[in-house]
Amino acid sequence: MPTTTADTSDKIIDGKAFAARLRREVLNDVADLKDRHGIVPGLAVVIVGEDPASQVYVRNKVKLTKEVGMNSFHHELPADISQSHLIAKVAELNADPLVNGILVQLPLPMNLDEASVIAAISPEKDVDGLHVINAGLLATGGKAMVPCTPLGCKIMLEETIGDMSGMKAIVVGRSILVGKPIAQLLLNANCTVTMAHSRTKNLADEVRAADIVIAAVGRPEMIKGSWIKKGAVVIDVGINRIDAPERGEGKTRLVGDVEFATAAEQASAITPVPGGVGPMTIACLLQNTVTATYRQQGIDF
Ligand code: NDP
Repeated sequence: MPTTTADTSDKIIDGKAFAARLRREVLNDVADLKDRHGIVPGLAVVIVGEDPASQVYVRNKVKLTKEVGMNSFHHELPADISQSHLIAKVAELNADPLVNGILVQLPLPMNLDEASVIAAISPEKDVDGLHVINAGLLATGGKAMVPCTPLGCKIMLEETIGDMSGMKAIVVGRSILVGKPIAQLLLNANCTVTMAHSRTKNLADEVRAADIVIAAVGRPEMIKGSWIKKGAVVIDVGINRIDAPERGEGKTRLVGDVEFATAAEQASAITPVPGGVGPMTIACLLQNTVTATYRQQGIDF
């Protein structure tokens, strides 16, 4: 007997649509800053070396920054740049009044120390939210610049669920970039949060108890549909490229950390990969740049 798969299309959280809406809001804020205050927000992106994936991300960021009416400053630096020269470039951008947000594209080449480069960015211009001051502000409930991917997840969850107070959430993955700030945001939204990682025992049971599942691991389809509680909301941050021989020789495709088809049958809502969290990340970068501009200018928003 052939197996039939239930139609789960109505459960998909459409990250592209969320991102398009957020970019429209940013465009309106940028127009307001121009019209009422004579300010054009500026985002500086620093890329070191020629990593092809990073080049694609940066080109996309530059294009979308211009589309919402902001100034985009693009700095391409050679892979063999010294630590002190890179930090001097960051200091120059910190001092530039036309630059409201600074993003240093990661990963940096091996010879450079990422932590000290991030520490050199002015926390007020740290639109990636990675500076320890911003991590500390997020942890203590202050006015942090929130890392873009976690912020995107939070926005989609709030709009999908509404009040998350008292819900059980599990975040699988504890990176500084994704897992930890997401857990912090969920805690701030009054969820009861479990953080899972590579040493967690009985991960399947931990996931089964959760009303909200965030997967940020980087392992293709590791979280099985049978682990998902009926009605849970699933946010899949993972982006994994796998072989797809069914599409032809040498072809590949992207999958998340969650086994999508089976998880979608259990979940009440789920983000796809691609087209879920990914598009929100850049939209949140633009929103963070506007937020940084308002704060730097002391304008209420
Ligand atoms: P990291 O590699 O920094 O962190 C991975 C985390 O997963 C670690 O905390 C690790 O645990 C945990 N982990 C690894 N194996 C297991 C396992 N078997 N069971 C449970 N936990 C495990 O990755 P990132 O956080 O940077 O990224 C995670 C994923 O999200 C990647 O696929 C990345 O491409 C994607 N991503 C997507 C973005 C987007 O815009 N959509 C943006 C950023 C990332 P431990 O700490 O114990 O090692």
